[in-house]
Amino acid sequence: MTMLNPADRPNLYPVLPLRDVVVFPSMIFPLLIGRPGTLAAVERAMLGDRKLLLLAQRDSNQEDPTVQDLYQVGVIASVLQTLKLPNGLIKVLVEGLERATALSFTQDSNNSFDAEAATLIITGADSLETRAHMKVGARRFREYVSLNRQLPDEVLITLSNLTEPERTADFMMAHLPLPLPKKQEALEQDSLLEQFKLINGTLEQEIEILKIERTVEGQVREKISRSQRTYYLQEQLRVIKKELGEDGDEDFTDVIAYKKRIKKAKMPKAVKDRAEEEVDKLKGMAMMSPEASVIKNYLDWLCAMPWATITKDNLDLDAAERVLEEDHFGLRKPKERILEHLAVLARVDKIKGPILCLVGPPGVGKTSLARSIARAMNRNFVRLSLGGVRDEAEIRGHRRTYIGSMPGRIIQSMKRAGSMNPVFLLDEVDKMASDFRGDPAAALLEVLDPEQNGTFSDHYLEVDFDLSQILFITTANMRHEIPLPLQDRMEVIEIHGYLRYEKLEIAKHFLIPKQLKEHGIKPGELQLTDDTIYAMIDVYTRESGVRELERTIARICRKVARETVNARGRETVILPDMLEKYIGIPPFKESMIEQGERVGTAIGLAWTSLGGDILNIQASMMKGKGTLLLTGRLGDVMKESAQAAISFLRAHGRPWGVPDEFLKGHDVHIHIPEGGTPKDGPSAGITLATALLSALTGRAVPADIAMTGEITLRGHVLPIGGLAEKIMAARRAGIKKVFVPETNRVDWFDLDEDLRSDIAVVFVDHVEQVWVEVFPPSQSPPSKRDSARAARSTAQRPL
Ligand code: ADP
Repeated sequence: MTMLNPADRPNLYPVLPLRDVVVFPSMIFPLLIGRPGTLAAVERAMLGDRKLLLLAQRDSNQEDPTVQDLYQVGVIASVLQTLKLPNGLIKVLVEGLERATALSFTQDSNNSFDAEAATLIITGADSLETRAHMKVGARRFREYVSLNRQLPDEVLITLSNLTEPERTADFMMAHLPLPLPKKQEALEQDSLLEQFKLINGTLEQEIEILKIERTVEGQVREKISRSQRTYYLQEQLRVIKKELGEDGDEDFTDVIAYKKRIKKAKMPKAVKDRAEEEVDKLKGMAMMSPEASVIKNYLDWLCAMPWATITKDNLDLDAAERVLEEDHFGLRKPKERILEHLAVLARVDKIKGPILCLVGPPGVGKTSLARSIARAMNRNFVRLSLGGVRDEAEIRGHRRTYIGSMPGRIIQSMKRAGSMNPVFLLDEVDKMASDFRGDPAAALLEVLDPEQNGTFSDHYLEVDFDLSQILFITTANMRHEIPLPLQDRMEVIEIHGYLRYEKLEIAKHFLIPKQLKEHGIKPGELQLTDDTIYAMIDVYTRESGVRELERTIARICRKVARETVNARGRETVILPDMLEKYIGIPPFKESMIEQGERVGTAIGLAWTSLGGDILNIQASMMKGKGTLLLTGRLGDVMKESAQAAISFLRAHGRPWGVPDEFLKGHDVHIHIPEGGTPKDGPSAGITLATALLSALTGRAVPADIAMTGEITLRGHVLPIGGLAEKIMAARRAGIKKVFVPETNRVDWFDLDEDLRSDIAVVFVDHVEQVWVEVFPPSQSPPSKRDSARAARSTAQRPL
């Protein structure tokens, strides 16, 4: 129950309604005033003793409060200061003096009140209990201020200066965050003890809330700062790595990608372990560092090898035969031998026998035959040319310590092959060279050796690689140029080259259809007559194989394709005399035999890696000092053959009309035209001797006769190589008769019948047997013209 102060006579005060705030005694408080009623109240106060009665509004939204809208109990306050603001409002600084209650109101004209108010008596200031509560309150209040960052520390200084319980209570109350009705309740409370109880209860609650807030805040802050720290560090790391040219994310994906690829590659256990070891090394590395790229390159190789890919063989011999026939004309022997090989393969898993070696001039179909074998067996095909390989490391690779090192060519080819059991063509095994860098043939031997090639070790790859399931096929142009240890492991299948009519068939059935297709020309659109093809064979190409012929056909196809761009479907028939228009002037003459003067000329047969060819060997005598002149790029062996021929004639020429000491006062000149092509070998011996004899005796050698054979100083004829190629060349040149060493008789009958027909052969074991046929007794004495020429070039008149 509120008690009025009996000592204090009730007084009349202008009433100032307060919104949202309760002012306590002793509080100095700035109020912003704008409502007309309120302004009027302040004005009245200023005219009087500057005192106001501050009463809180029950509802702060009420613009024009009536007496009923105000609490009865408020504070008498004194106006300390007023300040007119530019916006028409007035700022009034008030100081609360005492609690008072309005006893009666009088309304002023403009909705402003005056109230008669009496101060309230506050009880319990002296009670111990109040004191005790006050102490507790003060302690709590300190704690509350220390927790509440919104209250300045000065509040505590003021508090410690307060001794009166009443002031202390009001002060604390003024700083508590209580809702307006609660504050009003406290204001109306005249028992100090109750006031402190309210304050303490509120403080306890507030402290608890603040504590919880603190912890939560702390936790949040800790969490934020920890994640911020991590983020910050990570960002820094990323920036550093970026600066170094490394991308952090990539590292991770690289390692994962390799793991996946290793799994996918299905490597043998040992290889897999090795690969995984390397991936582990990679983990801690900067990806762009040279070390990492060496490892990555290595892993790329390991993962790219076809460790687990094995194609299923088709060992149906009939089907294989069909494929071989489909792809190639003729080649009876090679095809048979290949089918035998496949037959054995059908019975055993791996052939430990010799490796097939296809030997023959270029363009005879060695490569395409190997490709056909792969097709017939349903295996992948890969080709590796060994031409010019002179370093063992090319076969076996370089050690990984070299920057930019790579596996050798065998492993590279196996990657390309894409399976562990391809048909692997080793091309041109005869063109390998060996030097100080090691012998590639030795490495190749290991590759081909069925006892060793199951665990082939490449210097780069370092892990064993199984080559034992491969079907190796080798090729060479010249058998005798294959390194001997390799020859021992090989079964040679010779492919000699083709005769005119065979070339015609190949062109008609294989080359032309293939080229038409490649050039997008329909079969009806281009016709080449047989005569045209023969012309191409005879005067546009001169070769054992058909490579040049195929190129010539391709040239025609290109021209025709261009001509008929706008006239598709039109048929072009090419006759022999149109060839010049399409492919230019023929590079060769119809016959390769030199026409004209025949004395001193004899035709020999040569065998080179390009196949067979004829040699027009020319000899002449002239005044000089007895020197032998050799021109036309002759090799040493051929030069020696020439020496031997001269020696034989000096010793045994007399019965044939060769003058004694014919070298005295004369030089001998031997020339072999087409000097661009190097010529060597001993097999021109009998031809050189015959040409010399012709020059010395002035008797001509018939133009359709050719000969081949090495001679000894006694005139014996020794065997030669490459008979088939030579006979083919002779036929191409239009030769009708050939002299062949007796010792080569077996080889002759080994030749295809087609090759042997239409050409006469004479087997000889002494050079004089040639002369008997070439210079029959009926021919002597020589014709006038011949002898005139011979007289010019020889010292003495022949017999
Ligand atoms: P090589 O490897 O012996 O040098 P290629 O295999 O490259 O020869 O053959 C050259 C071209 O001639 C290829 O297009 C090939 O198909 C073709 N060819 C060679 N011989 C024959 C043949 N007997 N039948 C069909 N085409 C052949």
